[in-house]
Amino acid sequence: MAYDFDLYVIGAGSGGVRAARFAAGFGAKVAVAESRYLGGTCVNVGCVPKKLLVYGAHFSEDFEQSQGFGWTPGEAKFDWATLIANKDREINRLNGIYRNLLVNSGVTLHEGHAKIVDPHQVQINGERYTAKNILIATGGWPQIPEIPGHEHAISSNQAFFLKELPKRVLVVGGGYIAVEFAGIFHGLGADTRLLYRGELFLRGFDGAVRKHLQEELTKRGMDLQFNADIERIDKQSDGSLKVTLKDGRELEADCVFYATGRRPMLDNLGLENTGVKLDKKGFVEVDEQYQTAEPSILALGDVIGRVQLTPVALAEGMAVARRLFKPEQYRPVDYKMIPTAVFSLPNIGTVGFTEEEAREAGHDVVIFESRFRPMKLTLTECQERTLMKLVVDAKTDKVLGCHMVGPEAGEIVQGLAIALKAGATKRDFDETIGVHPTAAEEFVTMRTPVAG
Ligand code: FAD
Ligand code: NDP
Repeated sequence: MAYDFDLYVIGAGSGGVRAARFAAGFGAKVAVAESRYLGGTCVNVGCVPKKLLVYGAHFSEDFEQSQGFGWTPGEAKFDWATLIANKDREINRLNGIYRNLLVNSGVTLHEGHAKIVDPHQVQINGERYTAKNILIATGGWPQIPEIPGHEHAISSNQAFFLKELPKRVLVVGGGYIAVEFAGIFHGLGADTRLLYRGELFLRGFDGAVRKHLQEELTKRGMDLQFNADIERIDKQSDGSLKVTLKDGRELEADCVFYATGRRPMLDNLGLENTGVKLDKKGFVEVDEQYQTAEPSILALGDVIGRVQLTPVALAEGMAVARRLFKPEQYRPVDYKMIPTAVFSLPNIGTVGFTEEEAREAGHDVVIFESRFRPMKLTLTECQERTLMKLVVDAKTDKVLGCHMVGPEAGEIVQGLAIALKAGATKRDFDETIGVHPTAAEEFVTMRTPVAG
């Protein structure tokens, strides 16, 4: 049977755009549907605008620290509306770039909500199109628990478009988005509290990293409340919010921001017209080649709930395009040693095993740790300290994990990830000459283990 398209991609986000462009480049006839914004979450309400706001939040410290270097800055004033307008302009520019990327690679763009009507057919804007394969790349959506008054809370989707910077913000959650936005609000001058239901935030990160960030954020004056959970939110007559915790305490805020994870975006997608199966958490189930239980339908990115990061969605998009249209170049995505950064202030950068994971996996480990005051701060009042940590296998000398909390941790860990992927040993680290004077050189000069 002749199909309208070889591949119909639903969702022009990180993974969908990558798969569509490469498939078209390999000679396939490709369409992509997008209902909201070109570039998806990352470009519009994720990585990119988030990082711009993090840069914005950092300036408050820079102004203060500049005094140690002889500067007398004038009275610093911050205008949220300017930051948001400039951010919006940049995102608009990126939307245009994504449009050109798709069109120039020969992909047909359909703007609207796509619904799957059968395993080879998609309906959009009242038209139906047939395709040999359909790719679900619809991403995720913020998930707010349905406690009484949850409608008064916002998620990251709204945070990027607030009309003004709230005076008092309560951030709920202990994952990436919670700590990043707590840093943004705090840095921009809002009275910021972070509320997390467990003992210590950033579950799954190295214990030393979690503790170090807790100490640093506390030093900066952020109010961290652990073992705290919200029972209800009530709007008061003056517009402020009264938040009642499960332990009976009452808090007041102007904005309650939930960052409690993301669900797969499957709304009105028509999966009931297919044999696609979902896993226990509701994400689309796929095999190792991204095929769903319906042979003509594939899925990737956040909607499959493996690793919700843009570079992972990009790698999956590339793998799908190759698998379908360039099988001789197909290589499976390697999910080991994925580096990641949390753009909290200060940043976290990490790659490989945490100490806890390494021990659990049965490794005999040697731990190297360094804590120091960054050189840039020595002329300032700022008491911030950087943490660097290496987890090394005692038997093979292989470096199993690198972890850092400090300025530019993400930038530093990207390079280390290549070394770890190539199987670097601690001896390789020791024999590498440092770049002086940098913070990063500390990773090649740690000589004395702190624990074994
Ligand atoms: P998405 O990028 O979400 O794209 C899915 C697209 O599908 C969307 O554009 C959506 O509108 C469209 N769509 C959905 N349903 C339909 C339909 N039925 N018809 C047509 N179109 C549809 N990752 C990092 O690596 N680094 C970061 O710093 C980072 N920061 C983040 C900050 C925030 C606040 C958030 C929320 C996420 C962040 N992420 C970050 C995660 C990253 O954004 C995602 O992992 C990535 O965007 C996933 O790509 P995707 O292609 O799976 O989906
Ligand atoms: P995460 O899964 O990272 O964190 C969710 C947090 O919310 C956890 O601390 C979790 O607690 C808590 N939580 C979950 N449910 C509830 C509930 N019902 N009540 C109270 N707390 C709850 O999700 P995020 O929303 O922060 O981010 C989504 C994903 O987006 C991230 O996992 C990451 O993959 C990606 N991302 C990446 C970024 C980056 O690369 N820099 C930045 C932002 C997002 P517990 O740990 O106890 O389960």
